Order: sequence, then C-alpha cells, then structure tokens
Amino acid sequence: MRVGEFELIETIRRRARVGIELSLGIGDDCSSVVVPSDHELLTSTDLLLEGVHFRLDWTDMYSLGLKAVAVNVSDLAAMGARPVSLHLAVGLPAQVSEKQVEQFLDGIFAGLERYQVSLAGGDTCRAEGPMVISVTAQGFCHKDQFIRRDGARVGDDLWVSGTLGDSGLALRLLQSGQKLSPFFEERHHRPVARTLLGQILGSRGLATSMLDLSDGLSGDLSHLLKASAVGARVELDRLPLSQEFEVELQKDQAVFDLAICGGEDYELLFTAHSEQRSEIEKLSVEISLPLHRIGEMTSCPELQLCLATGQRYQPHISAFDHFSSAEGICLE
Ligand code: ADP
Ligand code: MG
Repeated sequence: MRVGEFELIETIRRRARVGIELSLGIGDDCSSVVVPSDHELLTSTDLLLEGVHFRLDWTDMYSLGLKAVAVNVSDLAAMGARPVSLHLAVGLPAQVSEKQVEQFLDGIFAGLERYQVSLAGGDTCRAEGPMVISVTAQGFCHKDQFIRRDGARVGDDLWVSGTLGDSGLALRLLQSGQKLSPFFEERHHRPVARTLLGQILGSRGLATSMLDLSDGLSGDLSHLLKASAVGARVELDRLPLSQEFEVELQKDQAVFDLAICGGEDYELLFTAHSEQRSEIEKLSVEISLPLHRIGEMTSCPELQLCLATGQRYQPHISAFDHFSSAEGICLE
C-alpha cells in the first residue's frame, strides 16, 4: 500500500456520510453523537483478523468491507437498537495494494449506506503482520426498549429469523476446495444484519431476550440460557433450512450439524411469550423475513436438542470457540 496515512484518511473523510446525529465527525480527536432524550447509546466492537476471521484468497476486499460493517451492525440489531455511527480502525499490510484498499472502502461505504450509518472516526496504521480490522458501532435505543439476553423465562417460545447453517456450510465447502455458488457466496461473505427485525421486536415489546447468531445456534443459545438461567428444548425438525442447504444435505447427512453448530449466520435468535405468536407471524409477513418457532424455554437448565421421534440428539461437532481445544469446527 503506497498511499500515505493522511491521504487515506482524507479520502475516507470526503466520502463519509454525516448523519444529523453526529455533532462532530472525522477530523478531531474524538467524535460526538447527540443522544435523543429517553434513549441510550449502545456500543459494540468486533475484531476481524486476517487468517483467523477471513482469508484474502477466499474473499474479495469489497465483501470484506461490507461484512465488517454488517457484523457490527448485527450486534446492535440484536439489542433492538438503531445503528447510528461507526468507527473503523484498520492495520494495512504493505502487500495490500491501493486498489484493494479502494475496494475495501467501497465495501465499507456500501455497508454504511445500506444501514444508514455515519462513519464517525477511526484509526489507520501500517501493519507488519496480517491485516487487522476493528469496527466499533454505536446505536440508539429507547431506554425501556432494548432487549438483553437475560430476559428469557420458562415457557417462552424460541424463534429464529432466516435460515440456519448456510454460512457454516459455505465455509466447509471453501475448506474442501470448492467454489461457492452465488447463494453461498452471499450468505458467507456478504451477510445481512437484521436491523429492521431487531428494532421492531424492541419497539413493539415482542421479545423477552435476543442475540445474533455469530458462533452457531447451540453455542449462542447456550449463552442466552446461562444469562437467563433457564433451559431450552429445540425441535430439530423445525430448524429453517434453505433449499441450497437441503441439496447439500441430500448428498451428505453430516451437513445437518452445521445448522446447529455452524457460525456466522447473523440471524436473530429471540424468545417471546406464547401469546405473541400471531403478532410475530404477522411481523414476518410485514417485513418479508421468515421467522420460525424452533422450541421453547424449560426449567431444566440445559439445552435439549430433540429429533422428531423425541430422541435427544448430540451433534458431532461443537460450536466454535477461539480459545477452546482443536475439537471444535474451525470457523476461521
Ligand atoms: P489522532 O492522531 O488524533 O488519533 P488520526 O490522525 O489518527 O488522529 O486521525 C485523524 C482523524 O481521522 C480522526 O478524527 C480519526 O477519527 C479519523 N480517522 C483515522 N482513521 C480513520 C479511518 N480508518 N476511518 C475513519 N476515520 C478515521
Ligand atoms: Mg489515531
């Protein structure tokens, strides 16, 4: 990368969208946002490391930029917040060309446009090792409306948006040297954050707890169960699968475990009182996003994965954990 730090920051500054919430954007030591009364400012950070979270021979730089925005905005969606501003810190190795930086920024700005988020600041460095991307996203939520992961109660329904396992399956295909179809490309490299769903669930008070699925259904659901001190029974025959996933499943039944344990779907997993069923079904139609009821919360403090026969099921892979032993599926 030959372009200088300040030149690059100036390019970014010129392109940055500055929403009305931003009283101070790029150019000073800090940025500042004006929080509307009765609202709270929610903040989330994610790190994307080359070689750990992405490989430059598997993804293009535009998709990487778009994904860096989406995965952060997804955390805000998971609280029911409206995304407002974003900070972008990048460490760029010398091997990354000017053209690649431009494509990466095109992806970042496409993401900012898609979610109507302002780029409020960041940091830019030359990296000696692999490429590093750190994004911090901020959003607003009415102080009584944000949805935490500790609010699930025994008897609540368990819901999930979209389909499960597509991104994990795409990664599996990449690892086995296959080229991805446009569908799997999209699901793995250009995930979409469910911002509208998150905000509506929050503002209408429909969900009792929620999180976004980054580490896989079983792993993320376990976090929710622990926070809420409840258990869950998941009916595996209810898991929403895409047609493309079903095709791969026909070829190899072992693929099914990716719907349970595969990461990076960025769908929303939430719990709701059973009286809300029809409201949630209506919402699904209203926003044209499939919402599926896949189980319920139980008093027995464990995660039960049940087959249609009622038998318990144990997946052959576990959810990804960066610090666990090598037995987890490698979602790197
Ligand atoms: P400082 O030395 O005070 O940290 P910098 O020279 O790093 O300032 O950055 C100057 C301005 O440009 C700051 O407002 C900072 O937030 C912004 N900035 C730097 N890098 C980025 C980036 N990658 N994306 C967005 N804004 C950036
Ligand atoms: Mg700086």
